[in-house]
Amino acid sequence: MHDPQHPLTTSEQLHAAALDVFPGGVSHNIRYFEPHPIYIARASDSRIWDVDGNEYVDFWMNHMASVLGHAYPDVVEAVTEQARDGLHYGAPNEVALELGRLVRTFVPSAERVRFCASGTEATMYAVRLARAHTDRDRILKAEGGWHGGNTDLSVAIHAPYDQPETAGLPPGVTEQVHAFPVNDPDAVVDLLERYRGEVAAIIVEPMLLAGGGVTATDEFLRTLREECDARGCVLIFDEVVTGFRVSPGSYQARIGVLPDLTTLGKFLGGGLPVGALAGRAELFEPARPDIDVPPVERVIAGGGTFSMNPMTAAAGVASLRVLDDEPVFAYTESRAERVRTELAALFEELNVDSVVLGESSLFLPHFAPEGPLDSVGAVETKTDRDALRAYHVRLLEHGYYFLPGHMGSVSYQTTDAQLDGFLDATRTVVGQ
Ligand code: PMP
Repeated sequence: MHDPQHPLTTSEQLHAAALDVFPGGVSHNIRYFEPHPIYIARASDSRIWDVDGNEYVDFWMNHMASVLGHAYPDVVEAVTEQARDGLHYGAPNEVALELGRLVRTFVPSAERVRFCASGTEATMYAVRLARAHTDRDRILKAEGGWHGGNTDLSVAIHAPYDQPETAGLPPGVTEQVHAFPVNDPDAVVDLLERYRGEVAAIIVEPMLLAGGGVTATDEFLRTLREECDARGCVLIFDEVVTGFRVSPGSYQARIGVLPDLTTLGKFLGGGLPVGALAGRAELFEPARPDIDVPPVERVIAGGGTFSMNPMTAAAGVASLRVLDDEPVFAYTESRAERVRTELAALFEELNVDSVVLGESSLFLPHFAPEGPLDSVGAVETKTDRDALRAYHVRLLEHGYYFLPGHMGSVSYQTTDAQLDGFLDATRTVVGQ
């Protein structure tokens, strides 16, 4: 019940109004949290401001898409300039071609690229291409792997940091998609044996962000590559988060394991909506409108009204040029490494059982009395999720914005002083 002694904040009022408009007041379930979501009025560099005038250091950073931070000057300039020439044409344009070329530069397995409007679409098209290419139906995915709202992959997403299972799926989906625990090669081989000759693709995120920050080992990813080669399956890396975030530009580039298809999004659009599917040219043959490709039937892979949007492309090109010209990876990764190390030390000093997960520029502390956390299942069963949410909500009160329960992201504009402040605030919040 509302206490009349404490007038509602503008965020509370807007959330109350939103309940009549949006289910739960939000358009994305993970943006809902108790006591209520905070309404943002503007964002710049590493900070955001809410509608009540509160300033926060932002560690959520646009679902981790804004690696350069908010309103990076080169990006704002590029978008403003493009806006004068039109917002969208629904037609080929040079700036999108430039972005496609940059994808090829940063993602070693990208011989061909198709743009779409979200990471969800990219994973949908990836699965479709793989099925068309192999003429098989079954898909293997990681437990806790999140590939967007894509119907084809909305099973076994029962990670602690996202929705549980999804209702409303056609029966074929649940029958054809099988989940394995990441970093368990035997489980993958068991599934491949059980469905010998029927598996079209294996899809995996190199880092399972919605899965609580568990990372696939290089060895595990290499095993997936070998198994796919041996069995004629398509290997798909979902690099929607890791693409352009992980030095030197994609996870596959860092570890030297190349998938057949890669899904991209988030940072590729420089903060605007985007998705892309990239991979071996051969796999895209059925998607070519310029040739007849019998006996393979044509496949729709990529596209949509807003694909190749020049505003997105202008923002993406400007952002990727910054990656090329400036030490973005070195800066963000070293700062996040400092946060991971110092958070772990601080929790130990405060006698709080915790495990800090995350790699590259990402970090997520778990309150885990019974660690270790070496699998999504362990994260799910051994961590105190309510404690994590409570920690993040308390940090909001101190001016540090995390989406409660979710990953923190260090941006290129996050300062050392802000990290000092965040670590001090953690001491206060957790020490009490
Ligand atoms: N794949 C991964 C690994 C993601 O993290 C996400 C979004 N969080 C998606 C796909 C879906 O991307 P989008 O939200 O742009 O549809």
